[in-house]
Amino acid sequence: MAEKWLAGVDLGGTTTKIAFITLEGDIVDKWEIPTDNSNEGQLITINIAKSIDEKLLIHGKSKDSLIGIGMGAPGPVNYETGVILNAVNLGWKDHFPLQASLEVATSLPAVIENDANCAALGEMWKGAGNNAQDVVFVTLGTGVGGGVIANGNIVQGVNGAAGEIGHITAIPFGGSPCNCGKTGCLETIASATGIVRLANDELSKEEAAGELAEKRAANGKISAKDVFDSARNGDSIAQKVLDSVSFHLGFALAAIANTTNPENIVLGGGVSKAGHILLEAVNEYFRKFAFSSVRESTKLALATLGNDAGVLGAAWLVKNKMNP
Ligand code: ZN
Repeated sequence: MAEKWLAGVDLGGTTTKIAFITLEGDIVDKWEIPTDNSNEGQLITINIAKSIDEKLLIHGKSKDSLIGIGMGAPGPVNYETGVILNAVNLGWKDHFPLQASLEVATSLPAVIENDANCAALGEMWKGAGNNAQDVVFVTLGTGVGGGVIANGNIVQGVNGAAGEIGHITAIPFGGSPCNCGKTGCLETIASATGIVRLANDELSKEEAAGELAEKRAANGKISAKDVFDSARNGDSIAQKVLDSVSFHLGFALAAIANTTNPENIVLGGGVSKAGHILLEAVNEYFRKFAFSSVRESTKLALATLGNDAGVLGAAWLVKNKMNP
């Protein structure tokens, strides 16, 4: 019998990543197409279907070589109906029937999931989650996202909103406004945007001097990467920002771990590229705030899959849900 593949899709606002993946989780082929969000996003699933057909042809495979298609999409998902509740960046109206649209366009059984949850499943299956059944994944990017896996399943919650780690309140009073409408969310501190904001606050506080201040003076702005680079070089303002970010992140992660006691908490997203300087600082506070048996069993790790986590997680969903 010819080898069967899974199709994994990671839908973003500007590009869509697609991959053919074996049942063992090996990527056979991966590619990207632009996301066409004009005309209320009507072409998005059609373009994905066309692209998949073209690639199957190149591989000399027919449609029935694919067991199904899984997709991670940027928005909350209703799991019963396969509807994405809101995804303004994609042009879709609220409550777009994504699963049905994907099934019609591709003639394949489809499963959809929130993109952060997909990345979590990908890391669980083939990355830093190390195939553990209990994993928490935190994406530190422009925003902060998360996925909680318990007993091998994503914790979805009654309204599909479980795992919104970025919107844990880190500063109860007087925090900065968050895109969600609250103030003081973890995302306002531990995202790339949050880190830059904290650094700019520190740099305008005093007669600021040092490497980070010089970078800002030279370029007119700084990035989260600048903050980590300067902290590594011993800059005191950058180290103060790193300490503040790590404190709030370590505190929140310890609370999550005290609730769920996962085997691994995996840090991913662009900010996690800071690497060990961030991991070690967060780990110090995490260990301080974690309950003793949690501290002994839950480990913090950096994500290892990078951009492939989403397509792998989407493929895992197909494998898991359609149980070939
Ligand atoms: Zn928020």
